[in-house]
Amino acid sequence: MLIGVDIGGTKIAAGVVDADGRVLERIQASTPVTRGAEAIVTTAAELVQGLLRLHGPVSAVGVGSAGQVDHESGIVVDANENLPGFRGLPLRERLEELLQLPVAVENDVKAAALAEAQLGAGRGVRQMLLVMVGTGIGGALVLDGKVYRGASGVAGELGHLLFRPEQGRLCPCGRRGCIEGYASGRAIMEIYAEESGRSIDVATIAKRARDGETLAREVLTQAGRALGLTLGGLINTLSPEAIVLGGGVLQVEELYLPVLEYGLQMQALPVMRRSCTVRRMELVHDAVLIGASLLAKERTEDGRRGQAAD
Ligand SMILES: [Zn+2]
Repeated sequence: MLIGVDIGGTKIAAGVVDADGRVLERIQASTPVTRGAEAIVTTAAELVQGLLRLHGPVSAVGVGSAGQVDHESGIVVDANENLPGFRGLPLRERLEELLQLPVAVENDVKAAALAEAQLGAGRGVRQMLLVMVGTGIGGALVLDGKVYRGASGVAGELGHLLFRPEQGRLCPCGRRGCIEGYASGRAIMEIYAEESGRSIDVATIAKRARDGETLAREVLTQAGRALGLTLGGLINTLSPEAIVLGGGVLQVEELYLPVLEYGLQMQALPVMRRSCTVRRMELVHDAVLIGASLLAKERTEDGRRGQAAD
């Protein structure tokens, strides 16, 4: 048995996962954002300790966290205001001190991608690109079952691909014109508010679109098309066998997916578009937990190999 942890800006979840990737028990707590990094790490450790008391010892713990996480060093390289104090935090070291267990850490989208590639929508797929469209946009590439991390360790920030080069919308990363400023949940809310003068969430915008409101339909359509065009360019670059889509914005798939497909058709070269299927995530809410547990398993296997080499 292994334990996987999912650290996000609103909640922290922890679960006991068996060898087949089934979540046997899942518990969660609100992320204590106002109390800072140490409180967030302590909350995660307490959830794990709660599971250990109920289910007995485990060999390792895996953590998928929001932010740019360097799996190799265990350090959170960068994180936004959703996880205050996480920038530069030695997350693996802190959790290993608190838990006295081997810990593996990774970016949450990469953890989810690993789970989908091994046990979900990407089973049997050799090149899988996971695209998560929530408040922001995240991505991860899994090649032959392995997460691609690049030279920096944090590859996959596809939300910051340039969509509009001149006078683009401001992105939370500080740059202008990133796709995240056009197609994310935050962007959909902001654009709708700018056009209508009313601030409402994506679910409400989606409801209005379904009820036939022109502005709501237009905002969602533009967002889906923008993402489709961007992913079309990625298909041309990477030629993945599958793009797996997930995240809260996909709740409005009947509005978003047809225009996303239109954008893909516009931009992707035909031979590469034909080789790529677009799918929905299968593991959804548990993907990060399960992926984190798979990383914990790798960590114990690495440990055993290390001992054998000593
Ligand atoms: Zn950006």
